[in-house]
This record gives sequence, C-alpha cells and structure tokens, in this order.
Amino acid sequence: MKPDEEGFLFPVIDNDQCIDCGTCYKQCPCNSVKPEPVEPIYYASAIKDKESLLESSSGGTFIALAQWMLYQGGYVCGCVMNEYMKAVHICTNDIELVRKMQGSKYVQSTITECLNEANTKTSKGNLVLFTGTACQIAAAKKYIKNTDKLYLVDILCHGVPSPLYLKKYVSFLEEKHKGKLTKLEFRNKKQLGWGSEHRTYYEIEKNGKVKGFRPSLPAYFCSFFWGINLRISCYNCMFACENRISDITIGDFWGYWTYFHKKFPEGISINSVNTEKGKYMIEKINNQLEYCIPVSKDQAKGTNTNFFHPTKIPATRKNFYKGIEKMKYRDFIWRVYLDKSSRMKMLTSLYGRYMPKFIKGFRTNHKKDVE
Ligand SMILES: Cc1cc2nc3c(=O)[nH]c(=O)nc-3n(C[C@H](O)[C@H](O)[C@H](O)COP(=O)(O)OP(=O)(O)OC[C@H]3O[C@@H](n4cnc5c(N)ncnc54)[C@H](O)[C@@H]3O)c2cc1C
Repeated sequence: MKPDEEGFLFPVIDNDQCIDCGTCYKQCPCNSVKPEPVEPIYYASAIKDKESLLESSSGGTFIALAQWMLYQGGYVCGCVMNEYMKAVHICTNDIELVRKMQGSKYVQSTITECLNEANTKTSKGNLVLFTGTACQIAAAKKYIKNTDKLYLVDILCHGVPSPLYLKKYVSFLEEKHKGKLTKLEFRNKKQLGWGSEHRTYYEIEKNGKVKGFRPSLPAYFCSFFWGINLRISCYNCMFACENRISDITIGDFWGYWTYFHKKFPEGISINSVNTEKGKYMIEKINNQLEYCIPVSKDQAKGTNTNFFHPTKIPATRKNFYKGIEKMKYRDFIWRVYLDKSSRMKMLTSLYGRYMPKFIKGFRTNHKKDVE
C-alpha cells in the first residue's frame, strides 16, 4: 500500500515481479467480499460508565465490546493516533492501548501490520475483536484465516480523508502555536458535548506547558463533514448499504429524538446486529449498558444516510486535492471556505447562534477562529 497523488494509501503492483496472473484482483476484498442479505436487529445503547461514555464518540458500544473481549483473554484491533499523529490500526490486549482506540479519527488508517498480527493471533487460537471501517472489515474477513475466533465490528462510515491532508493540518497547528501537538480529537465530548457538528479539540505542548484549543471552524473537520475530501472510492462504497458485512455495525443514533423525546448530551449509539455472533456479543455486554433498547429499522436509520448509500460526491471534490504535495494547509482553508457551496454552511456555522432556530443548520458556541 503506497500513498497515491492525493496522499491516500492505495495498493501498488510491482510490475517487475508481476506475472499477470490476476490473483491480486481476485483477492481484493472489494472484488471478493460481497454484502449478502442480512436481517439485522437494531438497538439503541449507551454504556453505564460515564468516563468511558465521555471518551467515546457515540454511546460507547466499542469500549463495552473491547472490555468484554479483553475479559475473555482475547485481543482487540482498532485505530489509534501514534506519536506522529498518524492513524494506525494496532492489535493489543493492553487496556491502556485499547482506550486510545476510543474516539473517531477522521482519516484513513493503516491496517497492514494489524491484519498480520490478527491473523497470527487467531491462528494460535486467540479470540480477536477486529474493528474499523467496512472496507477494513472486508479486508479482515478475506485475510484472517481462522474466522471462528474472529469478531467483526464496523463503524458506520461516512468516508475517510487523506493522511497527507491530516499531516499538513498537524504541521500547520504546530507552526501556528510554535509547539508540539500532543492530542487531536475530532469529537471531544468532555468540553463540547455530543453532536454531529464539529467538536475539534487539540492540545499543544510548549515550554513544558500543555494548552488546549477549541477552534470554532476548523477547515479540516468541515471538509470531512461536508464530504469534500474523502477517498474517491468512498463515494462509491459498496459496503455503505443495509446488508452489512460485519457482526455488528455501530454508529451515532441521530434518530434518537423520534424514539426517546429526550436529549442525550453524552451520546447514544445505534447498533445494527447483523449475525448470530453479533447477537451473542450484544447479550454479553448487556450488563455494561445503561440502555440497550430494540428500535425499528426506520428509527435506527434516521438521518444516517450511510446506512443506505455512500456519501454523495460534491462538485468541489474534483479539484480538492489538486497540487496537495506543494500546497500548504493554509491554501486548503481557502479552498474549503471560498467554495460557493461551502459559504452558506460556513456562515451558519459561525453565526448560527444569532439565527432563529428554524434556519439554524450548524452552529457553535465558542470563539470564532477559522483554521
Ligand atoms: C472516518 C469515520 C467516519 C464516520 N462516519 C460516521 C457517520 O457518517 N455516521 C455515524 O453514525 N457514525 C460515523 N462514524 C462512527 C462514529 O463516529 C463512532 O465511531 C461510532 O459510532 C462508534 O462509537 P463508539 O462510541 O461505540 O466508539 P468510539 O470510541 O467513538 O469509536 C472507536 C472505534 O472507532 C474506530 N476508529 C476510529 N477511527 C477510525 C479510523 N480512522 N478508521 C477505522 N476505524 C476507526 C476504532 O478502531 C474503534 O473501533 C464514523 C467514524 C469514522 C472513524
């Protein structure tokens, strides 16, 4: 897997070694793992433990499943930000590392090493919980031989931005604050509550002191949320449909209002339980959950369009990454905000709180610093 011209990891064939047998095409998960019809059961859930809930992006289904897996003596595979602020998948049985998997990292993560480890662990008879985007689950399904020991959980995915774009954002923040970025969260609930709007929070270490920042309009998040910087294949994702390929799919329960008629300031998950293994897992974590309530398909899906189809490609995507190698992150800010279709979204983001409720699309309650 090598970065392409937009900075996304892409499989590359070594033409000097290639014998033109076509096996790589046949083995590619996108050509060989097809979504089959499933009859999912949907549950709305939130974990009891408040600290775990606040560290999670939604209702904490992931950490509940991970804790159950560790308790069984198994391993958990998931995405962490490493010390260079790169998103990588790791396979571990260390709870401290598993906690770092909590929270959504809005970028394509690297899974190659992790897949190898998960394969080795399962072949030695260990249980493994593999979590990630649906395309990563397809890779795990295809690559890991001992599927009896394997539990698969996909996060309901909108698409992933380029690792090179994130790298530019990280350098920009470090140059701006003249320090080292030590934490970057896209869905920080502790300071900013649960919501679909951006909740970016980061910490910079400078002269031995750590300071936290909450930008009100980070172009990085907005370009993700508005779907203008996703990997080109995400707009055509064959796994973004009702027939999920994992045991459980977890997402944000944005449709909660029609069901509960109350707010969930700390977050609530929607779980699509797709297989018998999935049902077994949900039963096993029931004691960790405050709610685990069956909901109908329509309520479950609510406004979560990625349950039905991939994110639609906006016109802005065409040139979004053009020239990325030479561009500075600052240039992207203008690319995001000067775009005609983004302008209205940006205005409502910044000034939403002054608008009547019915035209508020997107609002923030803190300082206006565009970055
Ligand atoms: C790129 C991306 C797009 C998403 N889009 C949507 C969406 O459109 N609608 C929706 O309802 N939910 C979406 N989610 C999922 C949602 O934000 C929560 O991650 C999910 O509901 C699980 O929440 P949780 O509280 O159980 O666990 P959390 O602790 O929030 O999630 C941790 C899990 O996310 C995985 N993860 C984190 N970052 C990545 C990554 N870059 N690549 C692969 N796996 C990752 C971890 O491995 C772990 O399994 C998205 C998440 C990501 C990472």
